[in-house]
Amino acid sequence: MTLDVAWAVDWVRRTAATVTEHRDELVELDRLIGDGDHGENLARGFAAVLSKLDALEEPPAQIGDVLRLVATTLMSTVGGAAGPLYGTAYLRASKATATSVLDSEGAVALVEAALDGVVTRGKAGPGEKTMVDAWTPAAAAAVEAADHGAPPSEVLASAARAAQEGAEATIPLVATKGRASYLGERSAGHLDPGARSSALILAAAAEAAAAAD
Ligand code: ADP
Ligand code: MG
Repeated sequence: MTLDVAWAVDWVRRTAATVTEHRDELVELDRLIGDGDHGENLARGFAAVLSKLDALEEPPAQIGDVLRLVATTLMSTVGGAAGPLYGTAYLRASKATATSVLDSEGAVALVEAALDGVVTRGKAGPGEKTMVDAWTPAAAAAVEAADHGAPPSEVLASAARAAQEGAEATIPLVATKGRASYLGERSAGHLDPGARSSALILAAAAEAAAAAD
C-alpha cells in the first residue's frame, strides 16, 4: 500500500472542500480569540490552489510538486499568520516528498516536515495554543503507527486523530503566540482555530488515503 500523486491531488481537493465546509466554524473560532478571518483565509487560499491545479496541462510527476503548488499559492493568496505558516509547512513537506510514491515512512516524513515548517516559521513550542499543538501529536502518532507496521493510510488516520485530540486540548490553554496572545488569560476556554484547521487538513489526507486503499 503506497500513496501516489493521485492521492496528493485528492488530498488537496478534499482539503479545499473541508475548509469551505468548515469556513463558518473556523471564522467563529477565530472571532472568539483573534480577528475572525481564519476560515475566510483558508477557503480563499485553497480555492486558488484548486484553480491552479485545474489549469495544469498534465498531472505533476511527484507528490512534492503538488505540495509545492499548495505552498506557493497559500503564500501568495493567504494573509495573516496562517498563510506563511501553512506555506512553509507545505514547502517543507514538498521537499520531503520528491517522489512519485510514499510508503509509511514517507507519510511520516511528510507530517514531520510539515511540523518542522510550522515551528521554523512561527517559533512556537507545544502548549502555546497554536497549530503546533495539533501537528506535534500528529507527528508522534504517525511515527508510532509506522513503527507498528501500519500502512500509510493508517499512519495518516492516526496522525489525524491525534491532531484533533491536540486541537481539543488547546481549549484550556492560554495563548502565548500569535494574535490570540493579545487576550492573555481571556484566550483560555476556546479552541485554537489554526489547530482545528490543521486537524481538518490531516483528516482530509487520511480520507484521501482510505479512498485509495
Ligand atoms: P491571523 O492571526 O494573522 O489573523 P489566522 O487567523 O489566519 O491569522 O491564523 C491564526 C492561527 O495561526 C492561530 O489559530 C494559530 O493556530 C496560528 N498561529 C499564529 N501564530 C502562530 C505561531 N507563531 N506559530 C504557530 N501557529 C501560529
Ligand atoms: Mg485571524
